[in-house]
Amino acid sequence: MTPTLTIDLDAIAANWRALSAAHGGPTAAVVKADAYGLGADRVAPRLLAEGATHFFVAQLAEAVVLRPLLPGAFIGVLNGFAAAEAATYAAHDLVPVLGNLAEIAAYRRFAAAHGHKLPALLHIDTGMHRLGLMAADVDAVAADPGLLDGIAWSYALTHLVSAETPDDPINILQLQRFNQACARLPTMRRSLANSSGIFLGEEFRSELARPGAALYGINPRPGLPNPMRSVMRLTAPVLQLRDVKVGEGVGYNGSWVAKRPTRVATVALGYADGYHRAASNRAAAFFDAARLPLIGRVSMDLTTFDATDHPALALGDHVELIGPAIPPDEVAGFTGSNGYEVLTSLRHRAVRRYAAL
Ligand SMILES: *Cc1c(COP(=O)(O)O)cnc(C)c1O
Repeated sequence: MTPTLTIDLDAIAANWRALSAAHGGPTAAVVKADAYGLGADRVAPRLLAEGATHFFVAQLAEAVVLRPLLPGAFIGVLNGFAAAEAATYAAHDLVPVLGNLAEIAAYRRFAAAHGHKLPALLHIDTGMHRLGLMAADVDAVAADPGLLDGIAWSYALTHLVSAETPDDPINILQLQRFNQACARLPTMRRSLANSSGIFLGEEFRSELARPGAALYGINPRPGLPNPMRSVMRLTAPVLQLRDVKVGEGVGYNGSWVAKRPTRVATVALGYADGYHRAASNRAAAFFDAARLPLIGRVSMDLTTFDATDHPALALGDHVELIGPAIPPDEVAGFTGSNGYEVLTSLRHRAVRRYAAL
């Protein structure tokens, strides 16, 4: 009686094709955080078979695991580079994203000792202010291009701050800053758009888009119809059905109290499965296209729903907690989160099936 997470690899592949077409240029696949919780070991090889040649993860350890599953593919590591990791990058043919002068210097030293140029991406900070060369660093490099020697620069990369908000003036500002910085650096290809950036228009086209979220069905254009396919469904079985009287509470602290005679469906899923406690008394489950409001607190292993209006619901039936009927973005709306966090919160306790939805 465990939750089931169904993941549709064909739908993820279809989303990658759609994003490639929308971008109109080379398109990578971001598979960090275990492919946003959906299983990088299955998602990445499927996308390789689909024709994807470039992949990104956040951490070196993620890349090392994927290397044998992605023969011949370019695997970039977004989170920067530590000198102690250099040999691992080289041994597994992985590509660091370098984002400050110290990282560049350390990688150059390693490449020199290694005897030939090693590949890297150059991260430029155009407004996110987390990683990447700052304006003063770009000045330094422009004044002394030798600082970049000895590395085979595959791309200059920048990351958009607010791509899902097309009206935000930071988008065009970042594009200008990126173009200006690139004009002062040795010629290299550019990598710009994330999922939402692909939909910002032609100026945001680059030699490599880097969508993640939209591959996994998250809407890259919030507020507009979602152009992506649903790729996952999280269901859990009903363990108990019971009728409670008016005035009775349900769950910890009695945070929900029956205002009418209520049939309570207790479902085998809780925050230990990554279903956020903040959904308490707010979210819903779906059964046969009918909506069952979440009542009471989400607890560790159990969550309760109001099944009063759905007498057909029976013990053992699976209800949908996240999926086509109630997408990650919608669940996130109940919990003050976003679809990314909803997906990456999913835990491995659920049985995973890779199948059509
Ligand atoms: C996570 C990430 C992406 C993918 O962003 P999405 O919004 O999920 O498409 C692209 N580039 C960088 C640098 C990232 O960290």
